[in-house]
Amino acid sequence: MNGKQISSKYISWLMEPLVYAILKALTPPDVITEFIDERFEPITINDTPDLVVMSIRTFNANRAYELSKQFIEKGVKVLLGGYHVMLAKEEALTNASSIAIGNAEDVWENIINDLKKGELKNTYLSDKSNNIFAMPNREIYNKYKYLPLKPVETSRGCPYECSFCSTAAVYKKKIIYRDPVNVINEIKAIKRKWIMFTDENFLLNSKHTEKILSGLRKMKIQWIAQTDVSIANNEKMIKQMALSGCFGLLIGFESFKKSRLEEYRKTQNIKTNYKNLINTLHKYGIGIYASFIISKDDENSVDHIIKYIIDNRIELAGLSPLTPYPNTGIYINGIKSKTVIQKWWRIKPYPYWKFVFIDNKEKLKGLENKLIEKKGQLYSIKNILKRIRLNGFLNNPIKSAVFLMLNIFAAAEIQYKKHL
Ligand code: SF4
Repeated sequence: MNGKQISSKYISWLMEPLVYAILKALTPPDVITEFIDERFEPITINDTPDLVVMSIRTFNANRAYELSKQFIEKGVKVLLGGYHVMLAKEEALTNASSIAIGNAEDVWENIINDLKKGELKNTYLSDKSNNIFAMPNREIYNKYKYLPLKPVETSRGCPYECSFCSTAAVYKKKIIYRDPVNVINEIKAIKRKWIMFTDENFLLNSKHTEKILSGLRKMKIQWIAQTDVSIANNEKMIKQMALSGCFGLLIGFESFKKSRLEEYRKTQNIKTNYKNLINTLHKYGIGIYASFIISKDDENSVDHIIKYIIDNRIELAGLSPLTPYPNTGIYINGIKSKTVIQKWWRIKPYPYWKFVFIDNKEKLKGLENKLIEKKGQLYSIKNILKRIRLNGFLNNPIKSAVFLMLNIFAAAEIQYKKHL
């Protein structure tokens, strides 16, 4: 299930949605299941299963509620889970028969048993925070052609409390780690060369990460992960990551302005020298996806950020409008100060790439257009070739080809957003 039209020309990076393979692994064999990914095929509302389950994010909540309403009208029970449900519980509950909050591993067995008895409860709440990570059953994905990049998790949560971040709002500084032995066993079972660690922040616990890296070194795979800038202070770890097959890292740079980073409560960025971070990662042949957040008053920063990305030959970068996800610090404060549109995610169509603040409309529209124009420049052929080192640190034809391909995908995505 997703929020985009099936016929859309949007080029998506279609990855396996990990949660459904976890649910499949937890489901007893006597329960018949069917997995449908709406990005590949339409959902048939005339089907009448005992239960429809959707794991939803804020961007596809509208679509999930639409589907939920249609199934409920046909007498089918609908259970919603996922990040958006944890961020907007009451809203989700009014749009479903039942909601599940937290780790599926804690609640799925009860849900199935209650369903069998015809006693599905309104809410299932996982209140444990121990290390229960099911081994996903990926057979369900065989029917679709996903990217060969396989998602694997090593932890859930994050100990930081960035004010814009939905993970911070959901996990409230908690983090649970998965047994590194299980992580390595899962990767062995996948038998694929490309892995994406889906953790919000892969490098939070050096000892845990080192155990995983040591397992990866024997496997000759390539992997990518998300982390924060504090990795800059740990060159030893960066070296180990490179030796274990780290292909690239997605890193939240967010802003160059101290005041903005303070507003975002991203204190680790204030203390970090971004140039050192970039140089050290490049020294070990690790590519970078740098993510920047553009606030509604950041018009003057955009040109500087674009120049910085090109000058520092950052392989990939995203500049996104500050989005006040439900229940985050930015949303709560914005509602109090009447500067954020209440429940903006219920706007149809979902306001991708738009500012959802209450401010001068022309100013916001101007900044949205500027962002699209500047990102178009960043992903022009000339600037892609300036940033990707065909003969430099990426003196590796596969690496160069993959980064080129990713840049071409990003350029196509920008073209799509121009028409939203
Ligand atoms: S460090 Fe990253 S994942 Fe953690 S709270 Fe901040 S933005 Fe979210």
